[in-house]
This record gives sequence, structure tokens and C-alpha cells, in this order.
Amino acid sequence: MSIKFSELPIIPEIQSALKSLEYEIPTPIQEGSIPSLLDGRDLLGCAQTGTGKTAAFAIPILQKIQQMGQYPIPYEPLGLIIAPTRELVVQISENISAIGKHTKVRHTKIYGGVGQRPQVAALAKGVHLLVATPGRLLDLIDQEYCFLSKLQFFVLDEADRMLDMGFMPDVQKIVRLLPRKRQSVFLSATMPAPIEKLAAALLHNHVTVMVTPPSTTAERVEQRVMFVDRGNKRKLLDRLLEDPARSRVLVFMRTKHGADRLYKSLVDAGVSAEGIHGGRSQNARQRVLTAFRNGEVRVLIATDVAARGIDIDNISHVINFDVPVEAESYVHRIGRTARAGASGESITLCDGEEFKYLQEIEKTIDMTIPVDRDHPYHSITAEDAELHKYDKFARPKEPRSTKRGVSTRGPRVKTMGGSRDGGRDARGRDNTPASNRTRSQDMGRSQGAVAGGPSRRKSSEQQSERSEGGAVTQRRRSISGKVKKIKLRSPSSQTTKFGKRSRPKSKRR
Ligand code: AMP
Repeated sequence: MSIKFSELPIIPEIQSALKSLEYEIPTPIQEGSIPSLLDGRDLLGCAQTGTGKTAAFAIPILQKIQQMGQYPIPYEPLGLIIAPTRELVVQISENISAIGKHTKVRHTKIYGGVGQRPQVAALAKGVHLLVATPGRLLDLIDQEYCFLSKLQFFVLDEADRMLDMGFMPDVQKIVRLLPRKRQSVFLSATMPAPIEKLAAALLHNHVTVMVTPPSTTAERVEQRVMFVDRGNKRKLLDRLLEDPARSRVLVFMRTKHGADRLYKSLVDAGVSAEGIHGGRSQNARQRVLTAFRNGEVRVLIATDVAARGIDIDNISHVINFDVPVEAESYVHRIGRTARAGASGESITLCDGEEFKYLQEIEKTIDMTIPVDRDHPYHSITAEDAELHKYDKFARPKEPRSTKRGVSTRGPRVKTMGGSRDGGRDARGRDNTPASNRTRSQDMGRSQGAVAGGPSRRKSSEQQSERSEGGAVTQRRRSISGKVKKIKLRSPSSQTTKFGKRSRPKSKRR
């Protein structure tokens, strides 16, 4: 039988509010976290909106502040809850008002896009609790309207969405301002690598409550990489846009000049496109975003900076015209699609120069992005950028004269764990000469060339095997040609608590 709120050590002021809200039985995240938070422990909660996560942290924090019996101090809150969007801030604040209505705890909302004067007035009067978006909060801190030195309770809500929306630098700035002695709550629906790192840095002696499987953004988005020479990227983009199913497309570029150029050339070509980058005014960006949100504009060209805080659902495709230099930006970019639990698609156009960034990204997201070669601009040189590094040394040379006579050593051709005429190349593709290949090998090749069924992936999947504990392992060949056995997934470990969960290690370095 489930425990009831009335059986938990919750003060009467809050019990009566819960009764009027008709909360009788705590949800799993509430049951798992309220007693620990009342005990003063930190919390890592892996939970989505709709699980009752707000009350899970609001009840204990309201209770503790109420029991402290302090008047609020002007500009110096005791508790801070940060959330990625204004809507979420409003929702959390409403929940706090309802749960804390019989307490003496005062709180206020802080978010951008509105005048700051009422927010400053509330801070001047003094509040116990702040519910804020990171950008506006930092603005007020910079203007010395808010100091975090007295903070005792800190909640980071929807941490993964913060990352998706590009707020991580702001969050990190706020975290650096927090006093060391505090109680922290960290909530995230998914646990991509940068989020795990932040949680580890933020929490001390924490308990973990998981109520959703920790699938990462990267797992929810169907990702593809297309190898293409820089000069053909624009033509490939045109081709991708020929498909009407790509109805709301966000195209990312590294520089604002590049974004401007691309936007103008798309408009000249008759594509319904707009561009936003850091160089445009806030008003212009807002106008463009509204048009994109309403479906009046099909293609939006953005830079990483400008895309911060974009919160638009139903983006059908994210196209990375440039591979981002920062792996974290990649996670943020692809997170713009696959919102609200939906699946989405991202396509990354990678030239030979960008190959090194792609490798870093794959390390960070801990997966190999499937290659789509099913387009007319596929560049073997770009795909084999890694291999070509070796080819420089492997280029056939004239036999060298040595003191002893003519060298018989030929060039060393890098093959992946096989002989020169029947191995695999650096990206794991079969490089057996056509004459030596079997029909089934050829069929494997052509299957691998279709979208969504890349040979690179396929070849390693074919080598997957299941170990005793149910863990799936893969034999992979590293660049040096050594065969590595890598643990991919342990179904049983998925449900264990964060921290003990075994994450698959990076497969290709
Ligand atoms: P949240 O995940 O915090 O956004 O909460 C989702 C919804 O569940 C909100 O409308 C809450 O009012 C409601 N809720 C939260 N906890 C409970 C509970 N224990 N019993 C009934 N409803 C709840």
C-alpha cells in the first residue's frame, strides 16, 4: 500500500494546503525525495514534467524556510529555483503559491522579456524564495539587485533542457556564485554527458530518484552525418530542402557572416527562409522567431549564440551546415528537434576539415553517428579524412636506394586488422578489392549505403554479442587496428541509480 502525505513528517500548514489541492498519495518522485530532502540531503531526480517533481522539492523547501521563522532579507533570498523557460517559472511559482499558501514564505518570479522594475521592487522588499530563468537573474545580479551569498537552497530544474537551449554557460556562472554550504536539488529528464558532469560538480552526498528512463537527447534524435566537400554543401542543402517533409528546418552555421550569406542566397533562390544571429536586434529576432513558430517561414538559419533560448516545438529537422567546434553545441543544436518526448531528425554536413570535430562529438555523445551516403555529393575524401592522414605516409614511393642496394620495403598501407587486399579501412569499411569480394559482401555494402542503414554502423552491429549478464558488447576496431571489446548496454543497469549506472564507454577514439 502506498504511503499517504498525512503519514509523512510534513507540517500542518502544508498538510492543509495539500488537502485542499487534493494531493493524497505522493507520486514516486515525491515519495522518494521528500523524506531525504527534509533530512537535509542533496537530490538528483531524473523525472519529466508531469511526475509531480515540483511538489517534490517545493514541499521540503517551504517547510524548512517556514520552520526557520526568518523575515525575508532585501535582495538576499534564502532559496533559488532556476528553470529554463518563463512558462516553467510561472508554473513552478503557481505551485509554490498553492502549496505554501498557509505558510509565511514569500517568493517571486524573475524572467526576461518583461520590464525588470516590479521584479526589482519585489527583491527590495525581500523574498525568501526566487523562481527564475538564468538570463534575467544574471542581469539582476550584475546590477546588484540580487545577492546569492545567503542562499541555503538551490534547485536546478530541467537541466537537460537548459543545455538544449544553450543556457549552460549562464547556469555555470550562477553555480559559481552559490555558497558552498547549501542544499541542492538537480532535476533532469535525461542525462547527457555534460549534465552528468554538472550534477557531479553540484551535488554532495546526494540521493538519487529515477522515475523516467534516462534516455539522452542524442538517443531520441535520429542523427545522420553526410560527408561532403565544402564547395558542395550549398547544393546538398538545396537537395535536402527539395523534400517537402522537411517542413520546419533549423539550419545552424558557425559564423554570423556565414548565416547572413546563406540566408540571402536561399531567399534569392526562392526558399522561404529567415536568419537570426547575434548581430540582429532583439526585436528583429523575436519577429523572425514568431514567423518561424507560426509556420510562415520554413527555414531558419541560426548561429549557436542566437539559438540560445529558442523554445519552439515541432522543428522537423536540424541541419548542421557547419559541424560545431564545441561538442556541447552539437547536443544543444540537435536538442532543438525531438522536443516534448517527440522524435526528431538531425543531419550534419561534414567536410574533411571538420572530421576532427565530428570525432569529438561522437566521443561526447558516446555513439557513432550513422553515415548517409545516399546523395550525389558524397565525398570519399571527407569521409576518409582520418585515413588520408595515414595515406600521406603510405603513398607509394620509388624504391629507395640504400647502402646495401635497393630497398624492398614497400609503403605501409594502413588496413584495419587485415591484409592489404582484404582488410577494413579506418572507418571500418570493407576495402577488399572488388574482384576478391564475395556477393554477400557486396550486398552488405549496398545495404549500408541507404539512408538510415549505414554500413559503418551495420558492420559493428553485426559483431554485437550478448554477454552472460545480458550486457551487449561490440567488437570494434580502433584506428590502430586493434580489436576492442566494448560494453554497450546493460539492460539491468539502466534501472540502477545514477552514479552506479554503467554508461557505455566511448567506442572510437
Ligand atoms: P509537475 O510534474 O510538478 O509539473 O506536476 C504535474 C501535475 O501533477 C501538477 O498539475 C500537479 O498539481 C499535480 N500533482 C503533483 N503531485 C500530485 C499528487 N501527489 N497528487 C495529485 N496531483 C499531483
